[in-house]
Amino acid sequence: MLERRNELILLVAWVLLLAAAWPAASVPGQEKPVAAAPNSAAPAGLQKIADDIYVRVVSPDGEEVANSGVVILGSGVLLFDSHFTPEAGADLEELIKGVTAQPVRYIVNSHFHADHTHGNQAFGTARQIIGSTLARRDMLQKDAPALNRMQAIAQKQVEQLARELSLESNPGKQEALRLQLKTHQAFMRRLASLRILVPSLTLDDSLTIIDGERELNLLYLGAGHTEGDIVLYLPREKVAFLGDLFFNDALPNVEDASPLEWMDTLREVLKLDAATFVPGHGRIGTRQDVEEFLGYLEDLKALVAPAVKRGESLEQVVNDSRLPAKYDGFGFQNFFPANLQKMYAELKAAQPAAAPRGGAKKKEARP
Ligand SMILES: [Zn+2]
Repeated sequence: MLERRNELILLVAWVLLLAAAWPAASVPGQEKPVAAAPNSAAPAGLQKIADDIYVRVVSPDGEEVANSGVVILGSGVLLFDSHFTPEAGADLEELIKGVTAQPVRYIVNSHFHADHTHGNQAFGTARQIIGSTLARRDMLQKDAPALNRMQAIAQKQVEQLARELSLESNPGKQEALRLQLKTHQAFMRRLASLRILVPSLTLDDSLTIIDGERELNLLYLGAGHTEGDIVLYLPREKVAFLGDLFFNDALPNVEDASPLEWMDTLREVLKLDAATFVPGHGRIGTRQDVEEFLGYLEDLKALVAPAVKRGESLEQVVNDSRLPAKYDGFGFQNFFPANLQKMYAELKAAQPAAAPRGGAKKKEARP
């Protein structure tokens, strides 16, 4: 039991590494009831939001980390995001077996982050992994090297602990080191068995899947949480799965984000004729919840923009800014400094360049 807990701590450390300052804190409000639809006839662990449509809403401090969506089609199941580990993916597959005998045929990865994609390999029945062209690029160029780096770090830690153990003569300390070594070795084995499975079917704008009675739209609505986020939209059921374009009741992770474009993309999201909006993190939301999240980004901009205009330094902005009281109940409060920093960088970059001194002549364009 202790080993399992230690392994989990290592996993959380890994999320920290991948997502900069990911706090291991749950999202308040996650336990609130689903506002959009009743949760009936669903097994424990899945929330039913419409006929044959389920969501696994998870706490961010477990192995799943991010929510997953399940849509039962005519010829199989479509999964929207696969959790953080293959083990969490395998648990999800068991839950899916509780609602349908159909195998998972499609996996959609909303974006490239590990907590939405590393469960992919648990679903051996999947014929296609679908994602945006940019998400595929980022999985290859960012996630795969990050995993290699993590594997090297884990290997070094194991070697270091083995060395310390060989030099230790105190029996009590030897025992503690042996336990630590065992946990790190188990973690290293898990990393070694992890495979980055990238989308084999990619989209730049939209993709429609018609399978049985159901029509699904995968939409790229612009950059936001990353450059390559896509949305799963079910027009008849008025349901939209937004991945990490939507953090419900929580401050967002902006590590790979463009907050200014994110606001535009959310305005596009709000044009969809949908009533139920599923976030990557947090409870299932309504249109009002998405508007509130957009409002947070707008408030963040309003907080930072005047300081950028006045020429204040980033340090000044971070020191002087307070999270508005209405967001006190939001989860991931530790993200606030990073949120300020990202907004500051974007606004600074968007400022018109200062006019050259002495009215320097414009350079002739080269032929
Ligand atoms: Zn993400």
